Amino acid sequence: MYVDREEKILVMVRLRPLNKKEIAAKEATDWECINDTTILYRNTLRQGSNIPSAYSFDRVYGGECPTRQVYEDGTKEIALSVVKGINCSIFAYGQTSSGKTYTMTAITEFAVADIFDYIFQHEERAFSVKFSAIEIYNETIRDLLSSDGTSLRLRDDPEKGTVVEKAREETLRDWNHFKELLSVCAAQRKIGETSLNERSSRSHQIIKLTVESCACELLGKDNSTTLMASVSFIDLAGSERASQTMSRLKEGCHINQSLLALGTVIRKLSKGRQGGHICTLSPARSHVELTKNTLSFASCAKEVTTKAHINVVMSDKALLKQLQCELARLETELRNATSNCDCAMKKDIQIQKVWFCNCVMG
Ligand code: ADP
Ligand code: MG
Repeated sequence: MYVDREEKILVMVRLRPLNKKEIAAKEATDWECINDTTILYRNTLRQGSNIPSAYSFDRVYGGECPTRQVYEDGTKEIALSVVKGINCSIFAYGQTSSGKTYTMTAITEFAVADIFDYIFQHEERAFSVKFSAIEIYNETIRDLLSSDGTSLRLRDDPEKGTVVEKAREETLRDWNHFKELLSVCAAQRKIGETSLNERSSRSHQIIKLTVESCACELLGKDNSTTLMASVSFIDLAGSERASQTMSRLKEGCHINQSLLALGTVIRKLSKGRQGGHICTLSPARSHVELTKNTLSFASCAKEVTTKAHINVVMSDKALLKQLQCELARLETELRNATSNCDCAMKKDIQIQKVWFCNCVMG
């Protein structure tokens, strides 16, 4: 029996270094990571204002910190839970140019390498890893592995939740195959692109790996059980698109409905999957308002609890065996109850349980 664990979403905040343009423009840096968990807003001009000056998260990273550390500290454990049958998602949230793609690309590669490594070290289980990739642009879903350009639809599946219908899935053979598929996705994203920044700032990209495994000795047998889960790496559209104030939007920009909805969901949930958020920030003074919006989103995400559970897919025979064991256990309990206890009510309850179990099996 598996007990669901209740956990908070892991929220990490990463400040990128000033870029060349910002340095050339002599931009000031208003943000500083004062320890592993606190980021401070230091703007001497704004001192005395009522804006909170310190924000705390599970982890915060300054501009000098390599992505490898961001990965090792928390996202690694989340991503690797997929091999044990636990669904998980890792989101990158932040304004355009704050470093979402930079961070997420590396994290996806580190995670896939570690998943392959885990599979290599666990020869006693047979694994299959499937890869799929989609882009959500202007609220339509496109398959990044398919060149036919048609949009995909969402469907509610009673077992899997919301699924993207007919998204192509490739069974990963090895690392080179994974890299090949990444370049197919990159090529697909270029098609129909007018300006790279414009499109990438407006679209969400999701890479999903589905990992299935079964003990080798039970492979093909009808009493086998399979663990199945997926990990999603989600590089969100620039968070400036979630702005609700029309006047703030530059000409030609539209509110990104799905990003707005994500914010609403996170806000509502903050008052069943395992997940991590990485919020990326620009340190520049000119971006301070967007940076604060990102931190406020991150603060809400911190409050969300999820319930991670292991997804076990059982064959009919394995299910029957489990029910037989449960029946035997209840029968023993009933026998003990009859001999040790003369409380009629307790017996009634036990009898009902056995009767229920028989019905399920019948
Ligand atoms: P976003 O996806 O949020 O729009 P990008 O990931 O494309 O932003 O990053 C914008 C630019 O900043 C890129 O040229 C990227 O290489 C650089 N960059 C982002 N984060 C870092 C970082 N932590 N260290 C060094 N360069 C970074
Ligand atoms: Mg990007």
